[in-house]
Amino acid sequence: MAYVIGNDCIACGTCIDECPVGAISEGDIYSINPDMCTECGTCASVCPNEAISLPE
Ligand code: SF4
Ligand code: SF4
Repeated sequence: MAYVIGNDCIACGTCIDECPVGAISEGDIYSINPDMCTECGTCASVCPNEAISLPE
């Protein structure tokens, strides 16, 4: 399981500098490498648009 960035991403760039393992990549919508994400939740807590969540 890994956190996932959804369509609410506005590509603000806030999350990418906060990920301690460098799992986040830039794009029109940013993305998380599921093989690298440690589920720390930091990115979800800093996203201003609540675009990052754990899949149910
Ligand atoms: S949950 Fe943590 S490890 Fe996973 S992408 Fe977000 S900041 Fe990085
Ligand atoms: S912080 Fe949220 S809105 Fe900003 S780039 Fe990351 S996922 Fe997208």
